Amino acid sequence: MCNIWKMDHSNEADASEFSTFMQNDLFKEVESVGINGGEVSLIPNLVDYVEEILKLPSIKHLNVISNGFRKNVLLDSASEIYKHCQEKGVSFHIAISLDGVEQVHDDVRGVKNAFTKATSTIDEIIKNQHLYCDSYDIGCTVISQNIDYLIQLDSYAKEKKYNIKYRLGIENLRIESNKLVEQFSVVFNDERQAAMEFFHYKYSETKLSDLKVKFKYFSIFYWLKETTPRRLLGCHWKDEGVTLDSRGELYYCAVKSKSIGSLRAQSGEDIFFKPENITYRSSLVKESCDSCIHDYHGKPALKDLIVFFKSLFMDRLAMKLYKLKLGFMK
Ligand code: SF4
Repeated sequence: MCNIWKMDHSNEADASEFSTFMQNDLFKEVESVGINGGEVSLIPNLVDYVEEILKLPSIKHLNVISNGFRKNVLLDSASEIYKHCQEKGVSFHIAISLDGVEQVHDDVRGVKNAFTKATSTIDEIIKNQHLYCDSYDIGCTVISQNIDYLIQLDSYAKEKKYNIKYRLGIENLRIESNKLVEQFSVVFNDERQAAMEFFHYKYSETKLSDLKVKFKYFSIFYWLKETTPRRLLGCHWKDEGVTLDSRGELYYCAVKSKSIGSLRAQSGEDIFFKPENITYRSSLVKESCDSCIHDYHGKPALKDLIVFFKSLFMDRLAMKLYKLKLGFMK
């Protein structure tokens, strides 16, 4: 569902140049870093890059996403990274992608035995989590190719006690999935109804104790349901985040932003706060954020939380009335 594997990877920063990127003042208050691919286990010296990230003065959280195909390579790096994180008091989270059971996952990934490889990695992380990370989850992207098999995956995950999270496959400029949208998106065809029902099911069954996740599923359901889709979720990138690519280019976000400049040419602060970039940033927020359903988290607006809690209250009330009615019918 993306083109990253076909994109030009020449001239990427080595660990020493990456170190100079990390020394930029723009990053001095960064508390949380996500390393996304492509595939992190394809970087032989991933730990060298992580060491530079861990030098950030305010860093508190680090997370990586992997397809889990290269179990030994990934977990060797993870155990080393986890040791470094523990020394620095930084929490380390690993997410492994799983888009279906058996053949469904193989088909989505276009790789033979992808399911066996990914689940073998997941099982090892669960078995020996103390060696690899503070927390983990399994990420499923909902697309045309797995929309009819999500209940099967959800049942499988429950049976295996996998902490699985679902997100909607969307257009993302950084990985050029916007060029493939007709191949995978459930948003523009009849599958939208099935996706809406699935996210409503996940919203309904997620416990109140997991309020953040419940809100996320409700927000995706709500977005799919509306004729003019509207975002309820907050987004750190909209408020204060930044995306850095492997050549030092900066973006206000990975999903919709164009490159705003390169750390090879200018300082991060000069790029981020350049007046014409700030104007571009405002137009991005105005034109794109309200209709974006990337599942980034952030502080939601009070009016959007009210939509969520109102629906929660009405659903509960409807169920109570229904049960009351049943009682009278007995
Ligand atoms: S809401 Fe979407 S478009 Fe806006 S900053 Fe966040 S990810 Fe980017």
